[in-house]
Amino acid sequence: MGKTGKIVKLAGGTMTDIARGDINYYGKNINTYAAISVNETGKEGVFFGSPTPAEPMAIDLEPFEYTIYHNPVFKTKAEIAAADNEPIPSFINPEGEPDEEEKSKKCVVRFKAKSADLKAGLFGFDAYNKKLDKNCKSNLVGGRTVTYKNAYRSIQIHGEDYRVPKMSLRINRTVTLELDKTLKKEEEYANIQFNTPAGFTINPIDKRGNTVPLVEAIKVEISCTTHGAAALNAPTVIEVLADGDVAGAIDVWHPVPKTITVRQAIIEAKGGVNDTDLIKLNRKTSNAVLNSYFSAVFDPALVDIRLLNAAPEVFDLTAIPANDRVKQLFLNGMQATMKQGQTHSVKANEGDMDTFFNRLSQLYGSHCIALGRPVDPNHLSLLFTNMDCYKEINGTPYYTNGITKSGISIMFMDNVKIKPHQEIPHEIMHGAGLPHAFDETPIKDASKTHFFEQGATDNYMDYENEADRKHSWHWQWEKLYNSNYAR
Ligand SMILES: [Zn+2]
Repeated sequence: MGKTGKIVKLAGGTMTDIARGDINYYGKNINTYAAISVNETGKEGVFFGSPTPAEPMAIDLEPFEYTIYHNPVFKTKAEIAAADNEPIPSFINPEGEPDEEEKSKKCVVRFKAKSADLKAGLFGFDAYNKKLDKNCKSNLVGGRTVTYKNAYRSIQIHGEDYRVPKMSLRINRTVTLELDKTLKKEEEYANIQFNTPAGFTINPIDKRGNTVPLVEAIKVEISCTTHGAAALNAPTVIEVLADGDVAGAIDVWHPVPKTITVRQAIIEAKGGVNDTDLIKLNRKTSNAVLNSYFSAVFDPALVDIRLLNAAPEVFDLTAIPANDRVKQLFLNGMQATMKQGQTHSVKANEGDMDTFFNRLSQLYGSHCIALGRPVDPNHLSLLFTNMDCYKEINGTPYYTNGITKSGISIMFMDNVKIKPHQEIPHEIMHGAGLPHAFDETPIKDASKTHFFEQGATDNYMDYENEADRKHSWHWQWEKLYNSNYAR
């Protein structure tokens, strides 16, 4: 072996060579510099002037250069060339020069939201999630170059890519975020603090909830009293400033909320006002219950769901007169989609579900016209049935809990696996224009901002993630807020 060039070893602290055998240094000239003293100790003495003869060095050496730092740094050829021209660090300090990493002060502050706060929908929090990057399928749509990562604004902090999270916030609501700080050489900073945009209160706190300087804080309370721009790409920016340099940021969206109106109805299929179906459905669909479901899911989108009626209208299918031939036709169409011998169990295949949906929608529409209260095209309709809809594949049931098309949602409230607090808002989100969060057909996928492997997210529009559902992305807030139904 043999290479030409230069080897430089640097250590911030002590450098030690240990060998059970000999350690030999061979060189044209060997120079040793010490700022204080040179100590050589040998059990049998220290000898000068007659070293073990060096092996003759090969002369056909290949060009080779590298530098060892105590953290190995791999350099490009250009960097090596530049480094060669740098003055060799002086060794006059026996303590050694601190390396770059230790020498520089550093302050990076990241924000996190508590899972329970997200589940409650106290505010929207959407941070770039590295894990989702590998599950992102947005580029499956031909000709698209969107990347999930670029949905989040990028800033550089200490030369690192920092993706700014987005938060949606209702005015006069105090929310708490957790702080994840990287802070080196804090004593070298004169001032680390938040900027406070007009109308905002920003309060760094310790674990007891006491207000403390930001360097000591583990959380921050944020509230605002004024509305901001409606456009999501014109947020109010809260920054952490460390001696004036940006050390962290969060984009806050706090526009005037909008309202989506939902007209609710119970589809009474058995007849009679005192049967258990009606009692069950009334209990599951009171305004108090629905409002709690909707606020948890829609608050982050700055959308309020207004329930049109104090309680769902009851549409009794058994009260349709036998001589109302049009309505009876729709009714028969619905019955044809039921499982053998059933009146409340819809066959869960595409064709039957489609027919069931169309016939019930037509029936409900004509009922509303007959009432003198036709369905307002600016409202969404939410129809509760005490029916089930599932199919079994190899003994495993697959449930369809709701179907939504053209502003009408039908819920199968008798499904064993239904999770109304997630699935009713899920269907209303469909109604307001949100697609699923996973890949379906190329035509459906083309309309999606981003989509991921099914079950990979904690998003309300995903499937197979029931235990984790608590989240909506900022592009979903934007779609809901700008929905035709949002006023
Ligand atoms: Zn769905």
